[in-house]
Amino acid sequence: MYRSNTCGALRASDTNSIVTLSGWVHKVRDKGFVAWVDLRDRYGITQLVFDQDRTSSELLDKARELGRETVIQVKGEVIERASKNPNMPTGDIEVLVTELQVLNESKLPPFTIEDETDGGEDIRMKYRYLDIRRNPVKESLIFRHKVTMEVRKYLSEAGFIEVETPYLIKSTPEGARDFLVPSRMNEGQFYALPQSPQTFKQLLMVGGMDKYFQIVKCFRDEDLRADRQPEFTQIDCEMAFVEQEDILNAFEGLTKYLLKEIKGIDVSDFPRITYDEAMSRFGNDKPDIRFGMEFGELNAVAQHKDFNVFNSAELVVGIAVPGGASYTRKEIDKLIDWVRRPQVGAKGMVYVKCNEDGSFKSSVDKFYDQEDLGKWAEVTQAKAGDLICVLSGDTNQTRAQLSALRMELAQRLGLRKPDEFAPLWVIDFPLLELDEETGTYHAMHHPFTSPKPGQLELLDSNPGDVKANAYDLVLNGNEIGGGSIRIHDKEIQATMFKHLGFTPEEAKEQFGFLMDAFQYGAPPHGGIAFGLDRLVAILGGQETIRDFIAFPKNNSGRDVMIDAPAHIDDEQLKELHLRLDL
Ligand code: ASP
Repeated sequence: MYRSNTCGALRASDTNSIVTLSGWVHKVRDKGFVAWVDLRDRYGITQLVFDQDRTSSELLDKARELGRETVIQVKGEVIERASKNPNMPTGDIEVLVTELQVLNESKLPPFTIEDETDGGEDIRMKYRYLDIRRNPVKESLIFRHKVTMEVRKYLSEAGFIEVETPYLIKSTPEGARDFLVPSRMNEGQFYALPQSPQTFKQLLMVGGMDKYFQIVKCFRDEDLRADRQPEFTQIDCEMAFVEQEDILNAFEGLTKYLLKEIKGIDVSDFPRITYDEAMSRFGNDKPDIRFGMEFGELNAVAQHKDFNVFNSAELVVGIAVPGGASYTRKEIDKLIDWVRRPQVGAKGMVYVKCNEDGSFKSSVDKFYDQEDLGKWAEVTQAKAGDLICVLSGDTNQTRAQLSALRMELAQRLGLRKPDEFAPLWVIDFPLLELDEETGTYHAMHHPFTSPKPGQLELLDSNPGDVKANAYDLVLNGNEIGGGSIRIHDKEIQATMFKHLGFTPEEAKEQFGFLMDAFQYGAPPHGGIAFGLDRLVAILGGQETIRDFIAFPKNNSGRDVMIDAPAHIDDEQLKELHLRLDL
């Protein structure tokens, strides 16, 4: 038997028992006639004591030699500590060791296995198995497990069945490139790894499963942005005989349950706003509504003077920054520099200080009088002491820029509180999105999303105006879930493919199986998928999803620990009918 107890288990009530423990040597403190060794495992740390008098000097010598991270097994008696450590669950006791066995030596680890380690990101990723020994990483993985278990419990109790769908499939368009797997047995043919199980979960509805979920890996070959992973995990769900309302209710239920179980927080309010409203009020389809600073559109009160910058703009829009009137000239200049950074891309920023005495001082006093500025304050709901920041230009770009500024200022002002949770639904997304470069439309969600009732007719005349039966669940400025009511009619699906630029042959070749299935009594259905990695990170109060993934990839999509992707040898290439010199 390797152990009778774990390193986190022993308490004062265990005094006098004889125990066997196994674990890693965390630290050795050598005081000459006595040495203490902190022994660590997943469950905690227990202090071992080796004493010249009470045990033997031979054992003491052996303990002294123990290097960090050596794996040992000890036997000994639990004794009460002379000086207790109230900060450790096992701090009342120590184990007076009578037998010591080294189970495995360890090289000196390349960084310290401490909560605050001296190892940088790269080295910790290379030795991720050592990183996992550290509390913050270990706790994050345990936290993820807890969230996952609660998700399974809730959905299972709500009647959802977890079904696995295949990974070696054909392309499912979710807007990214596919990862491809060459088929050895079918020359020149490839599988695609699923960007999501979308078509399979719809086929499960045709199969009568009624309520499906799966905690599932999805693969998307995208240019990696910070904190994106090429493989990530979704809580993927689908339900039959549902309308949007049913789905929103079901998954509000799941979200409430998780916030309660995991965070102990009761959240009852899930406001719903349309995509259009989200864009005009927050400039963003995943607004953080934990704080105000809502957009005020100023066209009507700012385009009547000689200020050409505004007169020629499609949109003039501002936000009121609480307390911002006290910013110095230098601070405001810095803010202007911030919005002009290429990442934000604004040309400049107009500002208005709302003085405590009710007067205004702006950067455009030459053009606007106090009455004008008073109207701006009204529209942006600025109070005395606030600073109004105004951007202008192309509607979409200006909204994105002001949204970035809103989030940045909220962060600086401490308004994005990690322990506050404010979910909302964004509904009525556009069905199609114009690709500015190619001038063609593509599905904003995916091609299986149904248009809102009665909107199908608009597809020909005003494709950009058609609204989809699609919704996103947003939490604290992050999209945590998204889904839609699906098309379940073969003809409508065919029309959809046509509008997305597929010829009937292409549609048949790629999605014939789905349209065939729709001919055999496909029920009305819809669903949603949550990004598990992000959800866990948000619930865990962290920004980066990488901390909650055991073996994540870096920003170039590499696993630096196993060194993947990697070259394969010529023999393998030949077997797969692949030639690199083409
Ligand atoms: N398959 C979709 C996605 O991955 C989710 C859904 O529509 O249910 O975003």
